[in-house]
Amino acid sequence: MSDRVILREVGLRDGLQLIKSRLDTNTKLAWIKAQAEVGFTEIEVTSFVPISVLPQFADAATVLAGAKKIDNLLPTVLVPNLRGAVMAMDAGAKKITFVLSVSDSHNRANVRRSTDESLAMLREVVAERDNRQDITLVTALATSFGCSMEGAVNDARVTQIAEFLANEGIDEINLADTVGYGDPIQVRRIFTDVKTAVGDLPLAAHFHDTRGLGLANVMAALDAGVRRFDSALGGLGGCPFAPGASGNIATEDTLHLFDRLGVDTGINLGALLEVRRHLAEWLPGEKLEGRLLGAGPANR
Ligand code: ZN
Repeated sequence: MSDRVILREVGLRDGLQLIKSRLDTNTKLAWIKAQAEVGFTEIEVTSFVPISVLPQFADAATVLAGAKKIDNLLPTVLVPNLRGAVMAMDAGAKKITFVLSVSDSHNRANVRRSTDESLAMLREVVAERDNRQDITLVTALATSFGCSMEGAVNDARVTQIAEFLANEGIDEINLADTVGYGDPIQVRRIFTDVKTAVGDLPLAAHFHDTRGLGLANVMAALDAGVRRFDSALGGLGGCPFAPGASGNIATEDTLHLFDRLGVDTGINLGALLEVRRHLAEWLPGEKLEGRLLGAGPANR
């Protein structure tokens, strides 16, 4: 496989939003810098959300400002609404992910409005983006592969929303398996359908390993032509509306898979494992996942 894959670290956002320990700003920046140094070109560094909802991200603007100074790194941020998007743009974010859920119930629980209301708000975000320069606007579709509240999510609805996003001028679409309901056959089918609907628009995959299918889903998405993947160091992450849901696919395990497949990511696995060791020191008492640290890479 010759195309390069972009592996984006989301541990600092998806991973930190549910854990009990608060990570201080300097440690967050040390973590971001360490991953940039081992070859990560995109890292989701924070979320612009109300501090009352997620105090972990009270330092969003400071973290973004610090991350922007790191060489060869494009820091990305998550926003749930127009207000967050404007705050992110004012803080100098150059790549912003607006998140909404395909499942109406999940969207209401997460951002207190219907999916259609979020899509209408997204139009305002696009207008705001168009007033500024050089901002890449991504939309993440949470619960694209199923919802802990509604169960199955209609494939056609995912494709329909993706078409809407392409027409509205969104730069990248991220399909997220927020609650770990996806399986490889479904992942291949939905990504293939969406790709057919939106053409060359970049697609990204965001998998949680809730039921152990995370890396199998990565393989399926890779086969369907996806070249952008999210993962979290130590398998951090979860979803407040999916009880028992474990974290994202572990960055170290995902990178090991890509290395074995001969997929070029530009990231050094051995050096990443050193960062992974630090993670346990930065988040004492937090449960970390991922198989590779204990076993080490397969000896070729
Ligand atoms: Zn997630």
